[in-house]
Amino acid sequence: MSEKKNITELKKIRDERKREYAFVEKMIVEALRAKLPQKAKELIDTELVSARERLAEADEELKKRRFERNRKKYQAKKRAQGLCVLCDRPLAPGSKSLCQYHVDMSKVRNEARNERLKKQGRCPQCGAETAGDTIFCENCLKKRNDKSNERRAQGLCATCGIRPLAETSTWYCEVCLEKSRKRTRDRYHAKKMEEE
Ligand SMILES: [Zn+2]
Ligand SMILES: [Zn+2]
Ligand SMILES: [Zn+2]
Repeated sequence: MSEKKNITELKKIRDERKREYAFVEKMIVEALRAKLPQKAKELIDTELVSARERLAEADEELKKRRFERNRKKYQAKKRAQGLCVLCDRPLAPGSKSLCQYHVDMSKVRNEARNERLKKQGRCPQCGAETAGDTIFCENCLKKRNDKSNERRAQGLCATCGIRPLAETSTWYCEVCLEKSRKRTRDRYHAKKMEEE
């Protein structure tokens, strides 16, 4: 028995044993049930079923954890290579894990989600109910302000935290300033269209 077997062979043997075990288990349970009083039969049914369910749950949990661990490892590797964790394109400037395409995709998704939460009067950051006319809840608003001010204190853009503040702004860098202007313009035009 010293001869080495490969994984496929070992898996085949394990599956065979599993079937064998299930068969024997079934035989024993059936034989027992036939000889037992009603109460014991019920016990076998409920206890066995719940033990099996607990096993399946633990199995599922383990699988999820393994998947998560593998995913994290994979993503760390991709990041270290300077590649998007979702595809093989290079990282977008300013992003730690996504390419330009996936940055844009996630923006679109986030906007849709934020829009939905906003309509429900809930905070886009944590989902908590907001106090009325603010977009973020009190908690997240404070956190965001702290973070923004910390960035500004370092001379960085409060929004992206990457680029330095624009000369004409105490809040945005050149890029974010332009984006904010565009948003304002778009909103203005959208409103005008609605009015017409
Ligand atoms: Zn990508
Ligand atoms: Zn919140
Ligand atoms: Zn910025």
